[in-house]
Amino acid sequence: MANQVMPNLLLKRAFLTPDRPAIQFKNETYSFKEVYEKSYQIAGQLIHLGLTKGDYAGVLLSNHAETAFIYLAFQLLDIKAVILNNRLTAEEIAWQLTDSKAVVLITETAFACKYEEIYKALPELTVTSKEELFSADFIEPIITEEINLDDVCTVMYTSGTTGHPKGVLQTYGNHWWSAVGSALNLGLSEKDCWLCVVPMFHISGYSILIRSIVYGMRMVIQDTFNEKEIIKAIQNEKVTIMSVVSTMLIRIEAELGDNKLPEEFRCMLLGGGPASKTLLENCMVKGIPVFQTYGMTETASQIVTLSPEYSLSKLGSAGKPLFPSQLKIMDPNGEEARGKTAGEIIVKGPNVTIGYLNREEESSEKIVNGWFSTGDIGYLDEDGFLYVLDRRSDLIISGGENVYPAEVEGVLTSHPDIVDAGVIGVEDENWGEVPIAFLTTKTEIDKDKISTFCLQKLAKYKVPKQLYIIDQIPRNAAKKILRRELRQYLKELKRQDCN
Ligand code: ATP
Ligand code: MG
Repeated sequence: MANQVMPNLLLKRAFLTPDRPAIQFKNETYSFKEVYEKSYQIAGQLIHLGLTKGDYAGVLLSNHAETAFIYLAFQLLDIKAVILNNRLTAEEIAWQLTDSKAVVLITETAFACKYEEIYKALPELTVTSKEELFSADFIEPIITEEINLDDVCTVMYTSGTTGHPKGVLQTYGNHWWSAVGSALNLGLSEKDCWLCVVPMFHISGYSILIRSIVYGMRMVIQDTFNEKEIIKAIQNEKVTIMSVVSTMLIRIEAELGDNKLPEEFRCMLLGGGPASKTLLENCMVKGIPVFQTYGMTETASQIVTLSPEYSLSKLGSAGKPLFPSQLKIMDPNGEEARGKTAGEIIVKGPNVTIGYLNREEESSEKIVNGWFSTGDIGYLDEDGFLYVLDRRSDLIISGGENVYPAEVEGVLTSHPDIVDAGVIGVEDENWGEVPIAFLTTKTEIDKDKISTFCLQKLAKYKVPKQLYIIDQIPRNAAKKILRRELRQYLKELKRQDCN
């Protein structure tokens, strides 16, 4: 079959609607024509780095309009961007640069300390700040007018919640179909404007840039999250859609108090991890139009979404797969699970990755006949709505019953004195495994009272048998709980007890 080609996305958009506002950052607004001109200019400057079509190059930047121009310049030249998480340590970034074999790193002076350390570890690497890049001479670039949907556009590393991060290959087709699937679900209006305060180095932010170009839609970029500023921006900039993770939504919901978001605001796209029922209920009371979603780096953003019309009847569900995508639940025997049985979620669709960079074996284990094994557990209800339970690797089996740490953590954090919670399983003579919890608290707590609180909301076998108060729940750069570190922590506690 001939490879499918399409016009270069930015080139096409700048041709279709050049004068429409495209990207807003602080006090500047750029039209699509200006975005094209800026990106074209940068493309002409990137040539000095010796980069040519098809190369892989690292990018370490923070949320900014210039970050969008650089990403788009890469697309104009068809250079593959290895997009790095700026919250990682220099060591972690150096590991990803080595893993991806990137020979160039484009970064910014704000990260000077970090990139000097990276450079020390990788002296062969060409490191350039965007500030240096923007003052380089311009050489007329040869623009890639047609993109091949099967070609890799970006490489993004997974959050590393379950192990070492993996470089996910995201093709132009993955990004295109992700944007199309999202629009078919959320609808699209001329008035739409998407607020991007989630990181642009993560698929949640990068996918907003793609949607902006594909839809001809304005996007407002913010570089830091502050709930007061966000609410102000929604009001002042006439934002209609915003992507959030739970921690952001909790702060927005609390900050709103008795106030409401403007009527034009139509979608709070919530993803990245589990959301507690308390949060969803509080949002419903305040009329915050939450669309729960499920997705991952490997699916180029959302693959399952719940519309607010179902937020009451299907509370806690992540919804149904988007139009281009499919989903199945597999039982441990590798058969499709039926009737609300929990099992591994597997997904298929044109937004699903073709594999991991330089990890052929792992890729072919995880992707079989186009079906990608997510490593997450969930079930489908009688109407085909997905409920995500937890990661397969974190499942606790206690006396034959499944305990999903995320559910227990959701109950614990709904207690007013508990700030954060992490639940893991430990071996138990009677039950095989039992859940235990690590907590960070606002004040001193009475552990018995916490157990009574849990017993009111959870079946007995789900209630943590031990509660450990610690200073901080270990989370990775994506703020996800590192349960493997909790397991390690427990081992050390036990070792200390023995000594
Ligand atoms: P790694 O693959 O390296 O362990 P990661 O899976 O955390 O890291 P991401 O791709 O950033 O990396 O996150 C995707 C994961 O986030 C999903 O596989 C799932 O476990 C979790 N997740 C996303 N959306 C939801 C949701 N609605 N409910 C529960 N979990 C979710
Ligand atoms: Mg993952």
